[in-house]
Amino acid sequence: MLACVCGSDLWFYRGISDLPHGGVGHEFIGVVDEIGTDVSGLQVGDFVISPFSFSDGTCRNCQHGFHTACVHGGFFGQGGDGDGGQAEYVRVPQASGTLVKVPGSDFTDETMASLLALTDVMATGYHAAVSADVQAGMTVAVVGDGAVGLSGVLASKLLGADRIIVLGSTHEDRHNLAREWGATDIIQVRGDEAVEQLKKLTDGFGADAVLECVGTKDAAETAFAIAAAGAIVGRVGVPHDVELDAQGTFYRNVGMRGGPAPARHYQPELLKQVLDGSINPGKVFDLTTDLTSPRPTPPWTNDGRSRPSSR
Ligand SMILES: [Zn+2]
Ligand SMILES: [Zn+2]
Repeated sequence: MLACVCGSDLWFYRGISDLPHGGVGHEFIGVVDEIGTDVSGLQVGDFVISPFSFSDGTCRNCQHGFHTACVHGGFFGQGGDGDGGQAEYVRVPQASGTLVKVPGSDFTDETMASLLALTDVMATGYHAAVSADVQAGMTVAVVGDGAVGLSGVLASKLLGADRIIVLGSTHEDRHNLAREWGATDIIQVRGDEAVEQLKKLTDGFGADAVLECVGTKDAAETAFAIAAAGAIVGRVGVPHDVELDAQGTFYRNVGMRGGPAPARHYQPELLKQVLDGSINPGKVFDLTTDLTSPRPTPPWTNDGRSRPSSR
């Protein structure tokens, strides 16, 4: 079993959120060890990826592609019904509707990392782009260059964006990956200054689609300020103290969509692209460790926008 750490795991780690019971972690892939009596479509020994939430795959919300709103669903590692994924074993509720079987075996470490990225960050970045209605030829702005923001760049490119402007940190390694995945411009300042720079790059109009991949008040304000008239802000960062400007968005016809990504909805398609080598989302990982090693020095910082992920 492989698991990874999400930005939202850090809330427990830092004591910002309480964990009522159970383990932490919701991003994991592994091999089926045991199967419940009601589970179909899976066998012991199957290699599977999981979304960060479990779902039945059959209710109205799942059928409409919103598995994170499943009436029998829930989230892993949040102290609810779902066990934590940072462990040797995890119990997967609604396994038939939740897990996605990976065909083949003997994958490289690089492919394994990319499969792991499909459990949350890549699916979440993709959801931001789909929610923002990114279309071929558009100029897209991505707020945030953590793992989700970078995945949002890759997703925007896949959806045919012509120009991709990242509003990110000052981390050069992130800029390099963003450019590799299709970013054309990177803005390293924040607030009004960032808005001004983006307007300059877009003849004063703003971006055709905006991906909000952070969730802070600052990031949300910037996202709506840089949206061109008629644009949609696709938000996937869990909102923290965010207030929306009802008036300002009204007069510019700016829309908003998004929420917790229905990773399960996107995984079959993204899985195909990982396995045929057309995408390599595992490149967002910058540190590998095991469960027993002494705690490594975390590469992330506490400055909000550069958090490794937004969930
Ligand atoms: Zn996550
Ligand atoms: Zn459902």
